[in-house]
Amino acid sequence: MEPARPVCDSYAVIGNPIGHSRSPIIHASFATQTGQDIEYTAIESTPERFADDVRAFRARGGRGMNVTTPFKLLAFELADTRSERALQAGAANTLCFEQGRIIAENFDGVGLVTDIQRNLGFSLAGRRILMLGAGGAVRGALMPILAESPAELVIANRHAERATALTAALGPLTAAQTAVRGCSLDGIGSLPYDLVINGTSASLGSELPAIDPGAFSATGMAYEMVYGRGLTPFLKLAQRAGVTRLADGIGMLVEQAAEAFLRWRGVRPATRAVIAQLTVPLV
Ligand code: NDP
Repeated sequence: MEPARPVCDSYAVIGNPIGHSRSPIIHASFATQTGQDIEYTAIESTPERFADDVRAFRARGGRGMNVTTPFKLLAFELADTRSERALQAGAANTLCFEQGRIIAENFDGVGLVTDIQRNLGFSLAGRRILMLGAGGAVRGALMPILAESPAELVIANRHAERATALTAALGPLTAAQTAVRGCSLDGIGSLPYDLVINGTSASLGSELPAIDPGAFSATGMAYEMVYGRGLTPFLKLAQRAGVTRLADGIGMLVEQAAEAFLRWRGVRPATRAVIAQLTVPLV
């Protein structure tokens, strides 16, 4: 007997672990707000099962999926078609099932830029930006950041060769008005940056990327991509250096979800109340 098809359009987030994912709450809130009749669930998978789990969800009538750690590269590879943003990131955080095809999207970078510029009111144009890390999240953020014409973008990573490989891959895509370079964590120079983004996963283990506190500017901003952990070691370091504009990645998470919702449903939900609901105070 064929599995029962859902009565309304069905979406899911897939990852491992998945129990603490905020995506079901976020999308349920978006659906209520916009009057969209959808079902949204969470699926825990494994690297071995990932492709079968995605195809089985689609066969049950699923219309799209959000993809989280550690499956963003597998999702990118599984897709039949990849959007420009997914290609730039080399990873997918959203899948759309359309006309028998799996389409890969990546909204992490646009979510980050929307959060910093629109929600936090910090324009990137003309700024000196230091990005820590060279993993998937950073790779997805580079082009959306460069599109805002910062003066300088320095990508610093524990393993410097990953940062220099990223900047080399950008090559001709780099906007002429932005100076871009990759380096090690101790190669960031002596001038403070307007914006320091922690795109490493160090905070997940309560670790601190080994950077000079002189990287922070008291009039600038420190942004931690990890969310829900209050003042991480990175944010504490920024605070001790005099930075008062501190943010974590909950806004990034909600904004990328809003982009996925727009892609799937054709309507962009408002995000402020959802961010406020999920924000863990930075204390
Ligand atoms: P990856 O595993 O792809 O990359 C991890 C990065 O962190 C690498 O650059 C690695 O350096 C660096 N790193 C890990 N531990 C340390 C440490 N102790 N000191 C210095 N550097 C370290 O992860 P992602 O890029 O996918 O994710 C990065 C972070 O961003 C995660 O914490 C994730 O939770 C968060 N994220 C948040 C999102 C949001 O919506 N808010 C969306 C996506 C990600 P090396 O290369 O030298 O090993």
